[in-house]
Amino acid sequence: MSAGRENANASSPDPGRVGSSPVSDTLIAAIDAFQVSWQPGDSPGRRTAIVRVRTEGGLTGYGEASPMLGGEHSLQIVRDFAPSLLGQDALDQAVIADRLMHKYVKLGPEGAVTGALAALDIALWDLKGKALGLPVYKLLGGAWRTSLPFYASIGGNADRSVEDVLRIVEKRFKAETPAAIKIRLDGDRTRQDYDIPGDIAKCRAVRELVGADFPLAFDANNQYSVGGAMRVGRALEDLGFLWFEEPVQHYHVRAMGEVAQRLDITVSAAEQTYTTQALVDIINAGVRMVQPDIIKMGGITGLMQCAAICFAHGVEFVPHQTQPGIGHVANLHVLSTIMHSTKPAEYADPSGRMDVAFRNPPTPQNGVFQLPDGPGLGLEIIDSELEKRRH
Ligand code: CA
Repeated sequence: MSAGRENANASSPDPGRVGSSPVSDTLIAAIDAFQVSWQPGDSPGRRTAIVRVRTEGGLTGYGEASPMLGGEHSLQIVRDFAPSLLGQDALDQAVIADRLMHKYVKLGPEGAVTGALAALDIALWDLKGKALGLPVYKLLGGAWRTSLPFYASIGGNADRSVEDVLRIVEKRFKAETPAAIKIRLDGDRTRQDYDIPGDIAKCRAVRELVGADFPLAFDANNQYSVGGAMRVGRALEDLGFLWFEEPVQHYHVRAMGEVAQRLDITVSAAEQTYTTQALVDIINAGVRMVQPDIIKMGGITGLMQCAAICFAHGVEFVPHQTQPGIGHVANLHVLSTIMHSTKPAEYADPSGRMDVAFRNPPTPQNGVFQLPDGPGLGLEIIDSELEKRRH
């Protein structure tokens, strides 16, 4: 190819039409973005934000956006950019993502825009796998493991008594045989440091419940000042916790790095980090375990970029992911490809409330998730069940 031809391509306003697809029928024919409610009266926060992409050849790919506030803001952005994608090649997911990111950059891009792009990216990878007849993990370079251990992620503990925390932890500890347990505080985000002795008492009680050697983590959900975080972090070190998640506000990047550098316990952050550039900022601040979320930022393409950044910096890559369906399985595909996978996958919702929409719902067996090996994400989604529940 001549330099002149390359330059012409580089300046093309319509990258989706550069080159031709090696696979026929992968042009985007329709994009649908909708919420699904799993139970009558589900609050928006309990709904799932789905993006469904169909190709002219009749293939269907599914993605999911972060359900924060119901995900409706991300879905609206998908509806907004959908017409510009009709006729584009679904296999060009990275070009599409970069083009849309830069078109919508002045809307944020953090949060709603990156959630929209993440959902689209996951759907396009699902389509790519179906078009080529291969599971996503093969397209990403292959899996180091297809059985993935998980940790039970248990939220809502700020308002519980010590006894109630123990009751819930014991139930999941016995029912799921997780590789680790994470206690999430989920406290009042407008207050700081308001029950440090109580928080430590809950951690101590859980440690006594599960025994001295069981891997535990504590997630402050941005609850503390730097001083408060140091106090809690020292207690977690004494109790042998494995990591201390988001001790201070995510937007106080330098403070997060300070806590990470001063404590011996591994401090993690970055589930509220929405770009690769912001991920580099938090690593530069001193955080050495990062947790980007596949449905909040980047999708599969973005998470693989995050993984490369982490590998280059010697930082642990431990994605955040709380949704039990499409997002979870997309996350497992990425995790399976990571050589230095140091922590189990997050598993936050064992309720099975979404299982009705899948012929092969992702369910742990004997403490592990089995990576699906069908084409794309490998999820067999029952469209009619989604349609019944859509908003
Ligand atoms: Ca968290």
